[in-house]
Amino acid sequence: MTEFLKLLRGLDRKNYGAYRRLKNIVVDYKDFNIKIVHVQGDPHAPPSFVEVTIHRDYLKVLEKAISLSRDVTPVEDFVYRALFKLLKRYSRRCGSGNSCYLGVPKPSPCMLRRSGVELNKVLLLRFFLGLPAKDRRVYGDQAVKLFADRIPRIVKELMTVLVNSEKRVLEIAKLYRDQEYVRGYLYKEGLVAFVADGSILPRESSISEKPLQKAVPFRSPKSMRITIKLPSGKSVSGMGIPLGVVVLTGGGYHGKSTLLRAIQRGVYNHVKGDGREFVIAREAAVSVMAEDGRIIHNVDISSFVEEDPYIGKTSSFSTLNASGSTSMAASLSEAVEMGAELILIDEDNSATNMLFKDSIMEKIIPDDPLKPLSLQIRSLVEKSNAGIVVISGSSSAFLCRADRVVRMRMFLPEDITDYVRKFVGVCEDTVSFSGVRMRVFKGVGGVKRIRSRGMRLRIHYTDGVEFELDLARNPRIVEEGQVRLIAAILRRLVRENVHTEMSELVKYIDEELGRRGFKAFKKPVSPDLTWVRGIDVAWVLNRLYRARFEQVPTRNP
Ligand code: ADP
Ligand code: MG
Repeated sequence: MTEFLKLLRGLDRKNYGAYRRLKNIVVDYKDFNIKIVHVQGDPHAPPSFVEVTIHRDYLKVLEKAISLSRDVTPVEDFVYRALFKLLKRYSRRCGSGNSCYLGVPKPSPCMLRRSGVELNKVLLLRFFLGLPAKDRRVYGDQAVKLFADRIPRIVKELMTVLVNSEKRVLEIAKLYRDQEYVRGYLYKEGLVAFVADGSILPRESSISEKPLQKAVPFRSPKSMRITIKLPSGKSVSGMGIPLGVVVLTGGGYHGKSTLLRAIQRGVYNHVKGDGREFVIAREAAVSVMAEDGRIIHNVDISSFVEEDPYIGKTSSFSTLNASGSTSMAASLSEAVEMGAELILIDEDNSATNMLFKDSIMEKIIPDDPLKPLSLQIRSLVEKSNAGIVVISGSSSAFLCRADRVVRMRMFLPEDITDYVRKFVGVCEDTVSFSGVRMRVFKGVGGVKRIRSRGMRLRIHYTDGVEFELDLARNPRIVEEGQVRLIAAILRRLVRENVHTEMSELVKYIDEELGRRGFKAFKKPVSPDLTWVRGIDVAWVLNRLYRARFEQVPTRNP
């Protein structure tokens, strides 16, 4: 430590590049140590970052919590939030550029694993730190202050917070375990999602994740109400959504899209106070929507679109500029191919001609290549074993094939299944879902550089072409850290020229992350990564310019 401070003083007023000598130095602070992992090239470049390793003796509180939740996620998430707050409090400007900046990215309300905090045998913190500069030269005084004073203070305060929040950490661990229990319960009981009574589904605004004040709390219809006894001893009641065809209907502005969005977010566990703590969905729940102009690679959309001279071969359909309906057909097929467990569809953002067609239109357009979802929805659910929740307030096409019809009225659901049966009865599918041919991912042609910026990925190709993909369009992506991790995963897939069947690739990514953590895909691990699922990497590959795929003879299902 003394030696290190001497070194820092010696760098004072030297050219900023002299900081490079700090790289990989480990400074011993007795109770913890700090490794300088990355050193920025100049004061305006993205900040340097460090790894703080805290010895295990301080972790008794955390240990207890982990054994309660049986998973490190909620504990890491808790520590991350504490670290985020502390760094924010201590971060200040002290020179040019990013000098003296301290921080990690702001977390969403989802409990997720992030590279800023990793709990293994030790507690590892990673955060950004702007090495101080004065006029592009090393600012020695400030650097000494950072390492001798501010950083140790932050680490000690964090440890104090952890020691003093035993009750809170245990509560969070219990909540997480209850949430995971509910998710497990869904699989056991043939449900795809659960929405607890009292949940607050709407958000303050489209740019805020805070719960809407004065919202109408969710209340389940009696006929769909289930009560789950939780490991914590508490129990929770709410609406169980069965694996099947569930139609969500109701007037405009009555809360349909809000409910569907909350179900989608139920793939993650939310923190206490979010309002969606017990809105839980199966892990592989995906939203399917129209994406005009999206790229499609060799997707078997033949169950939804018949071959015709203009569209071409639909058993292996490719385009750089899909129409609304073909984009939706491709996303449906891809969902089945990737093993989706729940498919969410909102007519608000759908190509409705892919959803249904009325009998008069059938007469007017006899040669329409589209075979709408409504005609094969039962068959799709039965064969793929994925549940479907579809919002439809303008057409009755799905009603006769629905297991449940739920009407939203003034933000509250009513089960109107029996009422609807009086008008429409039950009907058979007229089209049989034919399954989808599986594909092998065969790399991406001529990639030069993969970058992420905010929610966007930007890929530069060797011939000068640039391609940008906005991951905000995938509602499963909730943090920019997930986009950065996806970028890192893509880099590895490209570098190692991985060729794998897509459904295998999805599993492989989940397993690698589970087994080896972030370092499986990025070295050194930066402090700004958030866990993603393989299915979300697949979402990107499916839309990636010059990604190559080849169909294999097997089909799913
Ligand atoms: P729909 O899809 O049925 O047209 P939305 O889900 O888009 O309706 O909701 C319409 C508006 O009502 C949105 O501004 C939403 O934030 C708000 N809202 C949704 N659910 C509730 C609720 N439970 N309490 C209060 N406002 C709500
Ligand atoms: Mg809507």
